[in-house]
Amino acid sequence: MKLIQNYIDGRFVPGKREFTDVNPADGTVIAQVTEADNAQVDEAVHAARHALHGEWGRIGVRERAVRLHKVADAIEKRFDCFVQAEVADTGKPVSLAAKLDVPRAAANFRVFADLVKLSGLESFQTEAPDGTTALNYAFRKPLGVVGVITPWNLPLLLLTWKVAPALACGNTAVVKPSEETPATATLLAEAMRDAGIPNGVYNVVHGFGPGSAGEYLTQSPEVDAVTFTGESRTGAAIMKAVAPTVKPVSFELGGKNAAIVFADCNFEEAVSGLADAVFLNTGQVCLCAERVYVERKIFDAFVEALKLKAESLHSGWPNDKKTDLGPLISKQHREKVLSYYQLAQDEGATVVTGGGVPKFGDDRGNGFYVQPTIYTGLPESARCVKEEIFGPVCHVAPFDSEEQAVAMANDTNYGLAASIWTSNLKRGHRVAQQMNVGITWVNC
Ligand code: NAD
Repeated sequence: MKLIQNYIDGRFVPGKREFTDVNPADGTVIAQVTEADNAQVDEAVHAARHALHGEWGRIGVRERAVRLHKVADAIEKRFDCFVQAEVADTGKPVSLAAKLDVPRAAANFRVFADLVKLSGLESFQTEAPDGTTALNYAFRKPLGVVGVITPWNLPLLLLTWKVAPALACGNTAVVKPSEETPATATLLAEAMRDAGIPNGVYNVVHGFGPGSAGEYLTQSPEVDAVTFTGESRTGAAIMKAVAPTVKPVSFELGGKNAAIVFADCNFEEAVSGLADAVFLNTGQVCLCAERVYVERKIFDAFVEALKLKAESLHSGWPNDKKTDLGPLISKQHREKVLSYYQLAQDEGATVVTGGGVPKFGDDRGNGFYVQPTIYTGLPESARCVKEEIFGPVCHVAPFDSEEQAVAMANDTNYGLAASIWTSNLKRGHRVAQQMNVGITWVNC
């Protein structure tokens, strides 16, 4: 059985404890993973600190950028290995991993390498009471050792989205990938080696969150900053954990994203766009739409068309090129999603389609698949409308006025994303600007 090890100071190192890496498509164990103990996390952090003062600390921005482009080259050279590792860990369709996850990982290194080379510095002039002037300017230097903690839904894409800018700015990193998807962070270590990234600049410690490598990393006084993507309540726990050592944090958290569909939209494009927004990656994307508000005039037709789209999606083996939907990430996550499917019915939803587990008659029956699901008829106060489910599911509700749609879309504790569908561009911009979220799309 393959052993996925920690990567510390340029060496792959085993540990005292192991856990299993499971293929969510059929529930088989695909690898054993070394869990880093506290001493190994300390070792990784020390290696990262030491590396700040070595070759990595001495080379300039231009040479750093050259090496980061080489990391992108190394990812592209091992493209199929990365795709296969990501597919085996996540169960996502091979077409998605090959089109999105791995190309974007390489692009992350290229983009941040170029950005850091081109970014300017701010300066401004101030006047002192005696009339003399002073020129103030910003000078950028690395924060130091960055702790990187990432989730399982887009493992390599989201990890590189953090590691690439951290390294581009001259920092070093200790990453703790999700326990569900340890493979590609470890493969990335090989790409780092090929690219001539010095030992200690990129380190990987495997393990869990609370009571394991994740929590210990956030508490380390030797870690200068933490960047985390994952659930909002984990973000809250990390915020507490970093407080005693007052570290800067950067968070990307959960969402319960709204889409607003006006009657004047391009109907076909809106249905097809929303089908992607709801079901892509089996709904396991933080930016996915889980609340769809549709103007009453087209409500019935829209629900029917979205239903047909959902029912046309092929739930298949991840490596089958025809597969649209893979499994959910784990047994535990499927239990969570199915508990919301049950809750929706208890809360009085109408099941438009789905709501259960597909039947296969082969080993996929041991995997963690669920049906793509659409509900209507829930009150806005229902838990299924308020809480992030993180599966291939949405609730569709009608609205009668723009004001009502904006109010419903904004009535959430989350603030990640929204989309507006209309052919009236003026309204598109007007509504987009009223969304209390970080990102709003119009007609996409
Ligand atoms: P999670 O919060 O359970 O875990 C994420 C990572 O944090 C894992 O590596 C885990 O081991 C670690 N962790 C857990 N508890 C910890 C603790 N107390 N201290 C330190 N580390 C800890 O999230 P998940 O289930 O892996 O991912 C799904 C969630 O991520 C969803 O809520 C989704 O919306 C969110 N997400 C957000 C974005 C974004 O960009 N906003 C992107 C992808 C996923």
